Amino acid sequence: MWTYIIIGIVVVIGILLCLALAVASFAFENYNEKLRQLDECDNEFGVSTLKYVEKINELCFGNGLEIVQCTEFEDHYSTNVVALSAKTMYSNSLASLAIVSHELGHARQDCSGNKLKKHWRNRRIGRFLGMLFMPLLLAGAVLSLLWVFSVLPEMLYLILGLSFVGLSLLIFVFALVLKSNEIKIEKEASVFAEEFLKQILNEKELKSCREFLNSARLTYWASLLRTMLSWTMLTKKDVMFR
Ligand SMILES: [Zn+2]
Repeated sequence: MWTYIIIGIVVVIGILLCLALAVASFAFENYNEKLRQLDECDNEFGVSTLKYVEKINELCFGNGLEIVQCTEFEDHYSTNVVALSAKTMYSNSLASLAIVSHELGHARQDCSGNKLKKHWRNRRIGRFLGMLFMPLLLAGAVLSLLWVFSVLPEMLYLILGLSFVGLSLLIFVFALVLKSNEIKIEKEASVFAEEFLKQILNEKELKSCREFLNSARLTYWASLLRTMLSWTMLTKKDVMFR
């Protein structure tokens, strides 16, 4: 009886691991493919992304957002500023509209509470802690091994070594918590994005944008899974803190 239960558990864990590895490996390719497809689809009314952002800015933000130009592929939102590349601004593609709507979703989050700013602050802390992760882990492992092989026999070195390893594990857990929180924030921004898009797109265009935004969200899951499973060496590594 117990043998079957254990086999069942191993099989379930194996299947979950395979699924997780598949998401971690293919989410980014899937996103890029969807981006390429949607980049070739212009919206039915021929609205440029810039005109769309100006309209949403007027309707939903009382013109409180500043729209500035940035370099290509750097489109983003930062406090009260929507930065768009020239290519995005003058594009009529569904991809540009979806991406910029997601950034407007972040603008709405920023206007309605402090969770986005809190996340940004934690990310800055994370970037600093991320630099300490490897040195702490290595120093901890070396000190512990030197104690094990009696090169440094005093108990203090073992305590120090284990403390360093413990601290590095805490940083790893912090990275996972931050990435989980990021998934929630990104999901909400995409929900808001859909609400903005509903104002100008038809049902078919909206469906394509929804699928594209979902594929973008999957990349955040992939990032979390890559960090969690990096030790298996079966998936690409991802930066701990973006
Ligand atoms: Zn986002």
